[in-house]
Amino acid sequence: MGQHRCFACDEQNPGRIVTNTDDGWTFMFIERFVGPPGRVHGGTAVGALTCPALQLAERDGMQHPVVLHVNGRLNLPVPLAEPISVKAYSEEGRYRVKLHEDSNVILDGYVEVADQETNIGSVLQEPPSEYVEDLQSLSDVTDADIEGHSLFTQFLEVQKAAGYPLEPPPKCFGCSEADGALELSIRKTRQGDTYTRWKSEEAFTDGEGRLATTMVVSAIDCMNLHAINANDDFDLLFKLTQEKKNFFTGSYGVRIFRVPPVEIKDDYRITSRYLRRDGRKLFTISALSDSNGTIYAMGESIAIIFDLTDEIFGTDS
Ligand SMILES: [Zn+2]
Ligand SMILES: [Zn+2]
Repeated sequence: MGQHRCFACDEQNPGRIVTNTDDGWTFMFIERFVGPPGRVHGGTAVGALTCPALQLAERDGMQHPVVLHVNGRLNLPVPLAEPISVKAYSEEGRYRVKLHEDSNVILDGYVEVADQETNIGSVLQEPPSEYVEDLQSLSDVTDADIEGHSLFTQFLEVQKAAGYPLEPPPKCFGCSEADGALELSIRKTRQGDTYTRWKSEEAFTDGEGRLATTMVVSAIDCMNLHAINANDDFDLLFKLTQEKKNFFTGSYGVRIFRVPPVEIKDDYRITSRYLRRDGRKLFTISALSDSNGTIYAMGESIAIIFDLTDEIFGTDS
């Protein structure tokens, strides 16, 4: 293999996710990367798909591989703290990466990689035209108030009010206030819109001062689910919880517009917007920008409404 190194595969990283041996690819997500109880944070799982793709791109002769787009469909939640067998291969000009549990594909994704010499801040692509207006208005909000109750805190209160308190409170790698989390303290700025500030950890690097793509994808995921609650002040969540239903991320993709640095002046801004509902599907977008409103990446998420089994819900009734 070539010289690729990132947060996800760095041998020095105690939270290393990706290994490659003669037997193939293996992912292992330590407890830190929890999303739903006992399962991996969806954004981190989808983000990690980029690492094998970048390694394969080097093997295929690319000099300066860089991720333009990653998308993953979560068929089942990814298990935490156990080795997961992964298939990664080139297919129709992009890289297909699949996580397996027994004979099931639990996460099926693809990664588009370009061969382009870049510096921090280099432009990789323009935003898709259908999202330009939304992204512009999201990135105009660069200095909102982040005092008061976060949407995560309100989420816990709503679950309790609907008759299903989550005890102990879930530890989401992205948005809970637990040790080791990114502690994204997400706020509603207006109907369907959310906002937070985020300072990357130094370790989230590709070794050259760039923010590892795995962590870009991870950091802008949670906001998408919170945008749904920011749209109707938890009305849908409250009703679904009473009916023993909930919504979870079904598919999630991220496009990288500019090469983001690990260290940025005055923190990153992460924002999201609820777009629409179509039956069981809820569509949202999120964005990573700086304090001047320059956008580095956008996320596109489709959450799906599910019936919860009693086992997941922690109740026998
Ligand atoms: Zn890597
Ligand atoms: Zn979260």
